[in-house]
Amino acid sequence: MSDPSEAMMNNHSFWQYKYGDYAPNPPLPPGDYDTDVLVIGAGFTGLTCAREIRKDDPSRRVMVLDANDIGFGASGRNGGFNMTLFGVEPEITVMRWGREKTAEAQAYMQQAVKYVKDLIESEGLDSDYEHTGMLRVAYTERQARRLKKTYKLLTEITRPDSFKYLDGEQTQKLLSCPHIKGAIYEPETGILDPCKHVRSLKMLAEREGAEIYENTKVVSVVREDGSAVVQTGTATIRAKKLVMATNAWTHNLKSSPKVSNIQAPVWTYQIVTDPLTPEQWQGVNWQERMSIEDNRQFVHYMRITKCGRITMGGGCIGIEYNDQKMDLWKNEKTWQDLERHLKWMFPALKDVKVHYKWGGCVSVNVDMTPEIGFIGDNNIIYAAGCIGHGVSLTQLNGRLIADLVLEKDTRLSRFWIVNRTALPMPPGNLLRYTGAKLIEGVLKAVDFYEEGRLKSRYEG
Ligand SMILES: Cc1cc2nc3c(=O)[nH]c(=O)nc-3n(C[C@H](O)[C@H](O)[C@H](O)COP(=O)(O)OP(=O)(O)OC[C@H]3O[C@@H](n4cnc5c(N)ncnc54)[C@H](O)[C@@H]3O)c2cc1C
Repeated sequence: MSDPSEAMMNNHSFWQYKYGDYAPNPPLPPGDYDTDVLVIGAGFTGLTCAREIRKDDPSRRVMVLDANDIGFGASGRNGGFNMTLFGVEPEITVMRWGREKTAEAQAYMQQAVKYVKDLIESEGLDSDYEHTGMLRVAYTERQARRLKKTYKLLTEITRPDSFKYLDGEQTQKLLSCPHIKGAIYEPETGILDPCKHVRSLKMLAEREGAEIYENTKVVSVVREDGSAVVQTGTATIRAKKLVMATNAWTHNLKSSPKVSNIQAPVWTYQIVTDPLTPEQWQGVNWQERMSIEDNRQFVHYMRITKCGRITMGGGCIGIEYNDQKMDLWKNEKTWQDLERHLKWMFPALKDVKVHYKWGGCVSVNVDMTPEIGFIGDNNIIYAAGCIGHGVSLTQLNGRLIADLVLEKDTRLSRFWIVNRTALPMPPGNLLRYTGAKLIEGVLKAVDFYEEGRLKSRYEG
């Protein structure tokens, strides 16, 4: 691998850096174009959607534009958890949408995880996939009490044996982390290398005949005579159907007031260690290789990589108030907190070095629930609000959006997040700042209440 500091300075994720040389497709040449479908954004959502449309109807011209190299967006820089968490928490989804819709959402997420796993297996994709299950852990009795309630709810609304509750002693057998008081274990989940995976999706979409242009930024979208007219600065594309798969950048598309206010970018940060020595692996005893999240409000997520390292993300977030800039990808303090937290969790790692650090942004909406919506008629479709739980979700969403584009009435296209009631972000930076600080304060207070002095052990 090349010099990591140079890759970090260029705002590349560890996965992009580890991928090595990558030759992006050329940008869209200047000119005027007509297409049946235009997809803006070549992450998991956009590429899956493009592939599925072409598979179902090879007669439709499908063009895909991305402002960057494929892998630059969240899809190439996430934790790689192929997981079933929908929205922020099942309890919150129940509160806002009721039990029935929460159960439907959990079933959708279980289908989404399977969709990703089956695709990787059937196509033999080089995504470093491991179906190792996931632990959600509590560090204190208070967190464990809340975790048990979550477990009870999840077992009531999902198919049998989806989850298991483990007490502290049972969890210690799976992991040498002395602080764990209890955990939910979810076997049917996995981990992947997100950059390898998103570039494999590019290969699949191209194989089906989608035309993909990288480093081609869309600067405006307008509706004209039932079509979408999209400008890149040097090209104009007239599309019968438009899919905006731009995730946390969606507000910058200048498409419509509705979509400009539908979501906001929030940054999350990650670190990855040097490869562990055999003694360190023995010390952490992480033999089952399952992914781990904790039960904090400012959640930490951690996992093993195929190249023998541990990556951890989460903790404090970055909220962008001047969100046109999209440049909060560095956060030295959060990176240091993550390193401290990793060493606190696993005393055997006290001497491990951090090899690489990065950040990425997720799309957050007011009710923290994923959404697929339309602008005007059904010819312009957008997806937003996948928060930090979009690896599986956005890929099944891509299939769902393909159904909407092809005007198919299917179980997926009837999923209740489609065309649901959505609340706009508060107008103006001052209101947004106040609202975000209020929510941040409440979440910090919950962590403080549940963790007490524990927190000061690893946060500076
Ligand atoms: C650090 C981090 C860790 C995460 N960890 C997990 C995890 O472990 N599990 C999980 O389930 N989820 C996780 N997520 C969330 C998950 O990565 C995302 O929900 C998912 O990848 C979103 O996919 P997408 O295709 O919708 O968007 P993206 O992958 O963000 O793609 C959007 C694309 O749109 C392009 N674009 C933007 N504006 C324009 C424009 N004007 N013109 C053209 N193109 C444009 C961008 O370049 C980008 O490639 C994490 C996210 C981050 C940032």
